[in-house]
Amino acid sequence: MNTIRKAKKLVESGSVAQIEDDLFQIKSSSDPNKSYFVTSDTCECHGFRNFYKFHHGKGLKANCSHLEAIRIFKQENPS
Ligand SMILES: [Zn+2]
Repeated sequence: MNTIRKAKKLVESGSVAQIEDDLFQIKSSSDPNKSYFVTSDTCECHGFRNFYKFHHGKGLKANCSHLEAIRIFKQENPS
């Protein structure tokens, strides 16, 4: 499953909860007992933290399904 589709699924299943203006809690799709705290540009999941290791020096911005989920969530719930 690609990142965007995974992100949409997280939003649709109600796994995204807004805690503060720029702080969200997202339930892990693989482990329902686990959740990640995510802001608009950082995430504490493995994929995000490993991104720079795998793509070091390519000038890419780290991304993960959780960051995408927040983008979708914000579009659907404009403040
Ligand atoms: Zn993440």
